[in-house]
Amino acid sequence: MRVLPGVPIGTPRLTFDDGPGEDTEALLDVLARHGVTATFFLVGERVTQNEGLVQRIVREGHELGNHSWDHPDMRTLPLDAVRAQLVSTSDAIEGAAGVRPNLFRPPYGYTSPAIEELAESLGMPTLLWDVDTGDWDRPGVEAIGAALSGAPEGAVVLMHDGPAGREQTVAAVEHALAAALDRAPDAH
Ligand code: ZN
Repeated sequence: MRVLPGVPIGTPRLTFDDGPGEDTEALLDVLARHGVTATFFLVGERVTQNEGLVQRIVREGHELGNHSWDHPDMRTLPLDAVRAQLVSTSDAIEGAAGVRPNLFRPPYGYTSPAIEELAESLGMPTLLWDVDTGDWDRPGVEAIGAALSGAPEGAVVLMHDGPAGREQTVAAVEHALAAALDRAPDAH
């Protein structure tokens, strides 16, 4: 794993779904300490409850994505409901932090060509992932860190900062970034 501090999208590309949540603040502290930025795929209904965190995410140079309003399987919804999920979430993010997300990640990765086309028409290409750390299932800090550290350069890595109980993820990111930066003497 190689992470370049100060580069807007690190390599591998770290992405965090399902926030903002109880552990987002601690995760932002870790990322800031190592000068690494990431992409946060936010859930709309949590945005309205955590506007200060959304503002901090933007202020610290991270990228925002849309992860739906309340995390449904989008394939089960009519397209007008999918549109409502996307628009309400982007509106909430803009209301909180003044920017609209420019990426979409469907909950569970469940999507369809029609859903992707709709998101694209709203200015949000779909970004899935290459490496699933399995952090959602709380497999332990070492397991998450091994998946993260084993991700190849340029890979999109899936992790979660919400809604709660993500302290294993925060610890794994801390360990992996500290180790990666130790191996990159020019990085500091
Ligand atoms: Zn999710």
